[in-house]
Amino acid sequence: MNVLVTGGTGYIGSHTCIQLIQQGYSPVVVDNLCNSKKVVLDRIEQVSGVRPIFIQGDIRDDAFLKSVFDEYTIDSVIHFAGLKAVGESVEKPLKYYDNNVSGTLRLVQTMEAANVKSLIFSSSATVYGDPASVPIKENFPTSATNPYGRSKLMVEECLRDFQHANPDWSITLLRYFNPVGAHTSGLLGEDPRGTPNNLLPFVAQVAVGRRQKLGIFGNDYPTPDGTGVRDYIHVVDLADGHLAALEKMAHQPGTHIFNLGTGQGKSVLDMVYAFERVAERPIPYEFKPRRAGDVAECYADPTYAEAILGWKAKRGLNSMVEDTWRWQSNNPDGYGD
Ligand code: NAD
Ligand code: UDP
Repeated sequence: MNVLVTGGTGYIGSHTCIQLIQQGYSPVVVDNLCNSKKVVLDRIEQVSGVRPIFIQGDIRDDAFLKSVFDEYTIDSVIHFAGLKAVGESVEKPLKYYDNNVSGTLRLVQTMEAANVKSLIFSSSATVYGDPASVPIKENFPTSATNPYGRSKLMVEECLRDFQHANPDWSITLLRYFNPVGAHTSGLLGEDPRGTPNNLLPFVAQVAVGRRQKLGIFGNDYPTPDGTGVRDYIHVVDLADGHLAALEKMAHQPGTHIFNLGTGQGKSVLDMVYAFERVAERPIPYEFKPRRAGDVAECYADPTYAEAILGWKAKRGLNSMVEDTWRWQSNNPDGYGD
């Protein structure tokens, strides 16, 4: 069964392709390579024994997208393609609305024309804004604190309206908490361009000697050690969550919303200490002021996904950190040039 995977050479998409292949699906990858590299396809093949079909192109290019649906019989779409740098989205909001919102609308229009009615969308816990309490359930109020988050929220709302008007469609919104880790093979992982925005890739680059020191954004939050608390989830668990959504929801009409998290909150210092243990070296850090837009605590109540999808994150903090470290130390320059 062919599954169109937009953004399939990216961090989460590439791990999901492996799980898809291992479950007997045939991923058809579409990516414009604006934030990933072709070598990822070699790595997917090395791990899974199958090289996914890859068509380079932009989801905002209607003629290109139509040609993909004309050429391949697509059963469902998993839509990862998007831009994700919060800071950049503040500087260049239109770039984010064009890519994330307009790109998704064009994809859905092309799916409609091709009579493909099953979509899984990469949303984010950022749609909960600053939550009034934790753990966060799917029915909590949503809001946005930056253009990236607003682009995810807008897409969610557009997709709900569209599904309401087209009740035979199945649309699944997966709200990811904090994806971390890498494939256990050490062949695939996160390869951020420039200075990493996210905590774990930054810590990994300090550990491998690419950066001198971690800046910890705030130690005065109302949390056990004063640093921010997040729900870090192993990228392979996250990929498995997509498989569960595909199997259980892809042919159930409706708009379905799931948190994909572990339900465990970990602080920045928890992550730093875990990394020091695994990499057997100190991670120098200094406290800095809070980062604008950050919340004190954000972690999921993942029980709905377990009840409906039969999915639960299995990998703990040690696996997340060990796999990140294996990937980073085997590939100090990521996927290289
Ligand atoms: P990523 O940047 O590694 O992957 C996204 C891929 O999409 C890249 O390969 C990029 O080249 C491609 N892409 C972007 N715009 C495109 C376009 N217009 N046409 C074709 N390809 C395009 O990011 P990721 O971490 O794998 O994230 C995947 C999705 O999950 C994104 O939508 C992101 O917003 C969402 N998400 C990510 C996180 C996270 O922390 N990584 C958290 C919540 C949600
Ligand atoms: N963080 C930090 N230093 C960094 C990057 C992140 O202290 O260089 C903190 C950040 O303030 C938050 C946590 O690490 O408390 C996770 O941040 P990340 O950007 O990875 O994910 P977010 O939850 O903000 O999407």
